[in-house]
Amino acid sequence: MNPTYQNQKLTPWAPAAVLSRFRPWVAVGLLWCSACNPDGTSQQADTSATTSGGLEEVTADQKKRADAEFEKSLTEVNPRLAEAIRKGATMEEIAQLKEPIATTPEDALRQLKVGNARFFDGTARRPGLGVNQRRAQVLSQTPFAVVLGCSDSRVPIELVYDQGLGDLFVVRVAGNLADPGTLGSIEYGVQHLKSHIVVVMGHEGCGAIDAALLPAAKQQQEPVNIRHLLDRISPALAGIPEIRDPKSRKREAVVLNIMYQKEQLKKNPVVAAAIKSGKIMVVGAYYNISSGIVEFYQDQGQNVSAAF
Ligand SMILES: [Zn+2]
Repeated sequence: MNPTYQNQKLTPWAPAAVLSRFRPWVAVGLLWCSACNPDGTSQQADTSATTSGGLEEVTADQKKRADAEFEKSLTEVNPRLAEAIRKGATMEEIAQLKEPIATTPEDALRQLKVGNARFFDGTARRPGLGVNQRRAQVLSQTPFAVVLGCSDSRVPIELVYDQGLGDLFVVRVAGNLADPGTLGSIEYGVQHLKSHIVVVMGHEGCGAIDAALLPAAKQQQEPVNIRHLLDRISPALAGIPEIRDPKSRKREAVVLNIMYQKEQLKKNPVVAAAIKSGKIMVVGAYYNISSGIVEFYQDQGQNVSAAF
């Protein structure tokens, strides 16, 4: 723990202090962001801003307006935290005031489903991205879910679940596979961060899975570390049924890999103990790039409604 942060008092409405202390381009950037409408269009520009050395100076009015925006957004998200910052709480006090998004595996799954619904429905809130919410993460992280996902650039985990800073502990590797590196990260999330759920998420159009479906001779032409990834996926595809439609076959392969990696994960002693004690749930998930919808695969006996 950093003692400098531990005892640091936040001045009331830190944004004002931040805006005045840092160089104007930082302030202009923040102000510009806060002045954007949800649809991405910009509000009417404040013509009172002046320029200095090619950079806009921020006026007192602009600072005041930015502060009010920050206060309003934080008050909506976490009123107790907003009040604490207003009174000059320390970083440690602020960390304690972070409200858990979920307290049980069932809650955690529900939050992921609801967040994904906002994402595919076009009503994403992109929560927890404000300056004060960022500062509230300094002393500790309390992600409610661990997600083992693919590195594919079209599958950004936080965006797909519409979650913010500190909400998800994300482990990404091509093919979302379990190996010592990814398992070590997941163990950390489960044992030390007290997450309530582990999601193994594959996706439509996964290049790693396509590569693992190629003949062995073709896979051997890949560099050694790519072959390491393919070797971890291949066992999952050993029993893939003959499906003539290529798209359906690839989907089947992705789902088989999700299930296989999930089972590998459940064999991990740390994960297995956490499941047994009821602290976590492990689920599979398939992300449809085209629709934005995540389908979840739960084990028999996990009594969680498919609806929210
Ligand atoms: Zn992929």
